[in-house]
Amino acid sequence: MVLTIGVLGLQGDVREHLRALEAAGADALVVRRPAELEHLDGLVLPGGESTTIVKLARTFELLEPLRERIAGGLPVYGSCAGMILLADRVDSGGDAIEATFGGIDITVRRNAFGRQVDSFEEDVAIDGVDGAAVRAVFIRAPWVQQVGPRATALGTTRSGHVVAVRQGALLATSFHPEMTGDLRVHALFVEMARAARG
Ligand code: GLN
Repeated sequence: MVLTIGVLGLQGDVREHLRALEAAGADALVVRRPAELEHLDGLVLPGGESTTIVKLARTFELLEPLRERIAGGLPVYGSCAGMILLADRVDSGGDAIEATFGGIDITVRRNAFGRQVDSFEEDVAIDGVDGAAVRAVFIRAPWVQQVGPRATALGTTRSGHVVAVRQGALLATSFHPEMTGDLRVHALFVEMARAARG
């Protein structure tokens, strides 16, 4: 059974996520309209600028439908800005954002690593991804400031910051696996969406 996974196409590495999802065995398509949310088995929220994505989602009348679908159990994977959008809370010490889509019981801090260095790479072991650690590319990335009881940390940097989390069928990483050609994070998400579909 081939799953249909959407990629929110408002901003960011849309094409790279489509390619990674197809390579992981899913049918992938760009989502820009509320009606396109209807028949999805899962959705990817690419990185970009989370404040801009929220504004565009409002303009495209996607904000409430997205919130409802996420709350209703749609499997979603958010990368970088996508992690911020999936967070229930944004740390007030980080850069503010008017709203998120919510879903994962975490507090994120926007541009958290960015204050030290704009971008860097590091190998991060991710629970649920077998084999070698994942080469994680961080670009003005958030970190998870606090993991609430409903969420689970899946990966931590050498500096001790949580950068991958899961809650039910929701997955989020601070980094950009679509940039490295390593399909394992996308494959993990496709398997999560398959399990959620039953
Ligand atoms: N700094 C961006 C934000 O806060 C995220 C960066 C990214 O997605 N690469 O929204």
